[in-house]
Amino acid sequence: MKKHLIIGGGVAGVSLAWQLLKKGHFVLLIDNMQNKSSSIAAGMINPIVFRRVTKSWRVDEFLPAAEAFYKEVELATESQFFNSIKIRRFFASQQEKKYWNKKQGEEQFKKYLSPEEIYNHEFTNPLNLLGSAIVKNAFRVNAPHFMKQMHNLFEVNNSLKYESFDHTKLDPDTMIYNGKKYDSVIFCCGSDHSSIPHFNSVQIQHTKGQILTIKARQMPKEETWNKKGFILPIGSNSYMVGATIERNINDTIVTEEGRKELLKVINGLYSGSHEIIHQVAGIRPTVYDRRPVMGEHPKHKGFYIFNGLGTKGYLMAPLLAKEMTDFIIEAKDLHAEVQLSRFYKNK
Ligand SMILES: Cc1cc2nc3c(=O)[nH]c(=O)nc-3n(C[C@H](O)[C@H](O)[C@H](O)COP(=O)(O)OP(=O)(O)OC[C@H]3O[C@@H](n4cnc5c(N)ncnc54)[C@H](O)[C@@H]3O)c2cc1C
Repeated sequence: MKKHLIIGGGVAGVSLAWQLLKKGHFVLLIDNMQNKSSSIAAGMINPIVFRRVTKSWRVDEFLPAAEAFYKEVELATESQFFNSIKIRRFFASQQEKKYWNKKQGEEQFKKYLSPEEIYNHEFTNPLNLLGSAIVKNAFRVNAPHFMKQMHNLFEVNNSLKYESFDHTKLDPDTMIYNGKKYDSVIFCCGSDHSSIPHFNSVQIQHTKGQILTIKARQMPKEETWNKKGFILPIGSNSYMVGATIERNINDTIVTEEGRKELLKVINGLYSGSHEIIHQVAGIRPTVYDRRPVMGEHPKHKGFYIFNGLGTKGYLMAPLLAKEMTDFIIEAKDLHAEVQLSRFYKNK
């Protein structure tokens, strides 16, 4: 039985631990309880990138794997955190509307785009005159609940320890960490990647995001509204409003500017009353080319990285964790666009 040490218990680390455990391997996951992304995320799985109305990268592969994974975890944990959602996109421009109407008829988009429809709701912003349409096959993971369930499960199995990774306790030659020998050590540290000395050629950028939770009694409960941001129903007349995109900012401080930007999202969509309940900030681990980064260290064999999930960790992590597992165990090739080698070209 091979032994794997995973550093970082965000959606990347827990999905990977799940796949390795399913293969019957030994896993120790360590997490320093400083999660800045997976526990904060809205958890939306949206197959469409709106402006040009394109499919999200590899969505036809990611989506079925994500559905299967979250349902499997729900069963194993006897909990419920995954559901389908209806995203209503209010067109932001004539151009977007044109793209939508053209692509909606194409075979490859049929499962994601509904035809434009006449929609009247008393409290949509009267400026939304360009019309709207529904994204099909969209989902939401209740992110904090999912994370809690995964951590509980691994804790009960003795597969999770809450501690900080101490690089002085890892000997790269013997692969012994803290007195125990491992076959692989996989770094899934999200935006805190730079705090560890390994893989320091990999630049994980910090894209801060803020979310408001509001109460809004006149918003529909069954639809997520989207235009320059989203208003997502989360039950009990509460809604998440998000999210800001603040590049190269590495703090989790909620700001007045963030709140103002999110108020613009609300006012651009909804004309009813609302009350702000809560504001949070997190950090997305992003990469310059918007692709995850996965692979084995060119010098330290047995050291791996799985990071850079950016804005779509909940969509991508389930399949990427499978692919990472196949790479570690069976040396199967990773997808060309996630290769770690792009950071080591001239080294
Ligand atoms: C505001 C916001 C909204 C978002 N909304 C969505 C959304 O709707 N849909 C979606 O798919 N994605 C969304 N995301 C993005 C998503 O959250 C990320 O893609 C994903 O969470 C990244 O997961 P990760 O496991 O790589 O990193 P993280 O979640 O950051 O996990 C890294 C883990 O490593 C641990 N760690 C780090 N260093 C160490 C160390 N030295 N020792 C021990 N442990 C360590 C940390 O404590 C943490 O738990 C959102 C993100 C933000 C900030």
